[in-house]
Amino acid sequence: MNKAFIREPDATDVYCPKCGAAGTSAPWVAVESHVPPEARRKLAATAFFCSTPTCPVAYFDALEAVVLADQLVRPVFPKDPAAPLCPCFGLSREDVEADAAERVPRRIRELLAKSKTSAARCETTSPTGRNCLPEVQRYYFRVKSGVSGE
Ligand SMILES: [Zn+2]
Ligand SMILES: [Zn+2]
Repeated sequence: MNKAFIREPDATDVYCPKCGAAGTSAPWVAVESHVPPEARRKLAATAFFCSTPTCPVAYFDALEAVVLADQLVRPVFPKDPAAPLCPCFGLSREDVEADAAERVPRRIRELLAKSKTSAARCETTSPTGRNCLPEVQRYYFRVKSGVSGE
């Protein structure tokens, strides 16, 4: 398959040294909130997140320094499938699956409303520093179309 079609929208041209997936650039505030100081020291200020669920690497930089998912201060999705999809409000995969089963995205709509308030802190609580909703919606559509999580 052409790589252009499987790239994430925010993907960059820096590739994970372990699995080869294009990294998602992560703001330093997100790195700071997930990576303990000792592990953080070896990373360049421009760090990338590897979104491959099965890859042990969480963050890396262009010089191939890596921080593993199990070195992080708390488990993150998708490295840990049990970690919340939206760490700000604790929305889990089960919540999204329940929405898909009920065919009404009630929990996701609630999240959407909450994500517009100041309680949304995706910049620091999400491993990529990005709004959690696209990930939540992606998962919802995946479940709805019958392709459930790995
Ligand atoms: Zn990787
Ligand atoms: Zn969030």
